Amino acid sequence: MRFMVTGGAGFIGSALVRHLITETSHEVLNYDKLTYAGHQESVTPVAQSQRYTFVEGDINDTALLHQTLADFCPDRLVHLAAESHVDRSLDGPQDFVQTNIVGTFNLLDAALAYCERGGKTGFLFHHVSTDEVYGSLAPGTERFTEASLYAPNSPYSASKAAADHLVRAWGATYGLPVVISNCSNNYGPYQFPEKLIPLVILNALQGKPLPVYGDGANIRDWLYVDDHARALHLVATDGKPGETYNIGGDSEKTNLEVVNAICEQLEARKPLPGQGYKALINFVTDRPGHDYRYAIDASKIEQQLGWRPTETFATGLDKTIAWYLDNQAWCDAVMGSYSERRRLGLQRAPSS
Ligand code: NAD
Repeated sequence: MRFMVTGGAGFIGSALVRHLITETSHEVLNYDKLTYAGHQESVTPVAQSQRYTFVEGDINDTALLHQTLADFCPDRLVHLAAESHVDRSLDGPQDFVQTNIVGTFNLLDAALAYCERGGKTGFLFHHVSTDEVYGSLAPGTERFTEASLYAPNSPYSASKAAADHLVRAWGATYGLPVVISNCSNNYGPYQFPEKLIPLVILNALQGKPLPVYGDGANIRDWLYVDDHARALHLVATDGKPGETYNIGGDSEKTNLEVVNAICEQLEARKPLPGQGYKALINFVTDRPGHDYRYAIDASKIEQQLGWRPTETFATGLDKTIAWYLDNQAWCDAVMGSYSERRRLGLQRAPSS
């Protein structure tokens, strides 16, 4: 099949592109604007493949979208391009509305026109979304299912929820074959070091403070990114049009547990003289509107598509830390002016 992947130079998109090239015989076109979060270096391992093509483009560039769809003739369009960092959405929500909502509209519109011009029989539009659209869970055992109500709390999750609704509407109203997947927090290689796990690893290695929001009690369900890439491939290939699939790691941890686990694994690999890595932990002002807990019930994708995560949090974290220790060159290449790693999420910029 021919897979067009938007956002394929980002963290999860590049994992999907690498998976599709190395584990399948599909053709892949990566359509990415290369924002601060998108980097060609993340697809270097597969970039020389004859089955891989890159188009530098914005999902808001409708002419280029129409042209790319007409030229490439995809069987699948897997849409990951997005502004993805919650803290950035608190400071500057405009980009999130423009890319995640308007951009998804433009992509749906172009995909529908592509189908109406003949497209490909069996074409499927797969929107990659987040469990954050469901809002926040209380402590306990309740988990998000595909039937959970939408209750997004941050500008990021609201923009993703809006995009999910547009995707659903383009399926119901115009008959575009669509599928949505909602996934929990990902971690693993090639994640931009503004997100919790790579930020803590890199700060620790440099002896810098390890910021933990509030008291560190907020809970996320962590999934290793390559497990997510396998799930995305399955959903895009075998998912039923009109359906939603929740994807999770069955691995709930408080933020403090995550930071402690990183410190312990680093201590075993590269001990820090003095009081050790945990002494670098620094509790900082909590994120405004910080959701308390996310947890995914992934039984639908397990039962219907036969997917399960292969990594536990311990094995996935071990691989992740090993990767960051071995790939300083990638970190240097992507960080650029971000090396100061200032605290985001506390300063709302006026909209222009
Ligand atoms: P990321 O920020 O690492 O990558 C986003 C990619 O999209 C980048 O390559 C960027 O250049 C590209 N992009 C941004 N705006 C674009 C535009 N206007 N046109 C074309 N390309 C553009 O994000 P990620 O963490 O890999 O997340 C990918 C998708 O998965 C997002 O839709 C996100 O909402 C969703 N998701 C992420 C997580 C997670 O834990 N990271 C969990 C669930 C769902």
